[in-house]
Amino acid sequence: MTTAPESIETRLALLRERMATACHRAGRDPATVELLAVSKFHPPESVALAAGLGLTHFGESRVQEAKVKIPQCPARLDWHLIGHLQSNKTRDAVALFPTIQSVDSLDLAVELQKQAEKQSRTVRILLEINVSGEASKFGWNPDRALAELGRINELRRLEIHGLMTLAPYTPDPEKTRPIFRRLRELRDACSAQLGAPLPVLSMGMSGDLEVAIEEGSTMVRVGTALFGERPRPTQRPDGPD
Ligand SMILES: *Cc1c(COP(=O)(O)O)cnc(C)c1O
Repeated sequence: MTTAPESIETRLALLRERMATACHRAGRDPATVELLAVSKFHPPESVALAAGLGLTHFGESRVQEAKVKIPQCPARLDWHLIGHLQSNKTRDAVALFPTIQSVDSLDLAVELQKQAEKQSRTVRILLEINVSGEASKFGWNPDRALAELGRINELRRLEIHGLMTLAPYTPDPEKTRPIFRRLRELRDACSAQLGAPLPVLSMGMSGDLEVAIEEGSTMVRVGTALFGERPRPTQRPDGPD
């Protein structure tokens, strides 16, 4: 699949319009919603095109793919890991990603702390919450996240910036509203418990970003609506398309 430069530009314009309309409906300033460009399975050329259009935040799901891709992309982009992280990949993850949005267990947080310490880095993290409780999804149970928040907050190399969730897929985005609302409420509860603001609510993707913005999202993670359909996962992510 080729991603023509003009099509990324056209899609970005449409996407900005969707985001602005949702912000307007919710009485929010569009500047309060960040766009994370999800480039998984798309080639470095597509990242370069998007970066050329002014995007700076990019998301990848897999450490293996990112390790090959990031060095081929323009420098000084802000990379976010958004896919499940296995503890044996934490070293590479800390080296590659200033932000890890998919922190889904205390064990993983402890492992990240160790690696960050070794590499003398600080990692911005989001806690991934499994709001819907689907067995197929990674992420904290909301009550457990609240219970373990204090322990995570003691890990000095990790800065908790907020929460992230993936809503269950549904053709009717309106159905995801309670999930997003619940994440915002949990964020408020976590913030009250820490006595510190947790500014980031990473929620909403290509299909449901309007509802997420209406419910307070500060970062939508968009792949398809920006880059087009993803090349098949069986294809080498760094291969020719
Ligand atoms: C792939 C992915 C996205 C982007 O999904 P689209 O529907 O293509 O916008 C967002 N968040 C996560 C965690 C993803 O894995």
